[in-house]
Amino acid sequence: MSLSAYQLILFPQRDDISAAQRAALLSHLHGCGFLGQAFELDGREHFTTGAQFLDQLVFLGCSPYIETEPPADTAARNTAARQGRFCHLHLTRLLPRARFRANPRARVRCPACRKSVAAAELLTGPGTDRTCAHCGHEAAITDWNWQGHAGYANLFLEVWGIHPGEAAPTEGFIQAIEKITDSPWSSFYTQADQQPADETGPVMWHNDRPN
Ligand SMILES: [Zn+2]
Repeated sequence: MSLSAYQLILFPQRDDISAAQRAALLSHLHGCGFLGQAFELDGREHFTTGAQFLDQLVFLGCSPYIETEPPADTAARNTAARQGRFCHLHLTRLLPRARFRANPRARVRCPACRKSVAAAELLTGPGTDRTCAHCGHEAAITDWNWQGHAGYANLFLEVWGIHPGEAAPTEGFIQAIEKITDSPWSSFYTQADQQPADETGPVMWHNDRPN
């Protein structure tokens, strides 16, 4: 069994969310019943889903089955949580600088020749520039065309256990968090291995946003 967990990653398009806005966001997520009980998973604060979690999602598949009930046993719960076998949530701490996160399983297009390459190839290796294997064009990772499979922000809301295209937040949910953070929000689906702390994915210290 793969240890990778499916996730829906929500993020503000502004990359300078303040500590006060994060606190207000967390309070809202509790208040609206999106977040439930806190639990620790590998040193990070995760939350079970709240009583109104499912009400704030639109289901896009034909017959989705969203598991929200964690196993009662702590060890079993943590194993299931790492694999995304039930829905749970994590709001990252306020990152000192905005970072780039992407779905390593996506296909990405070269900004010059538009041919597609595997995201995993771009996301490995040192530095932040990548050379296109097709045309030789060199560009910062954030300047490749990620086609909605990446985000650049200083705060991410991770919804674990949602498969690609399975569910998305309602318009009302998004509008509320946009108002709190004074920013439009976007999202992408990913399947990622368990990562330590909040330092997930490659760190990109570019000011440029991904395309
Ligand atoms: Zn190219």
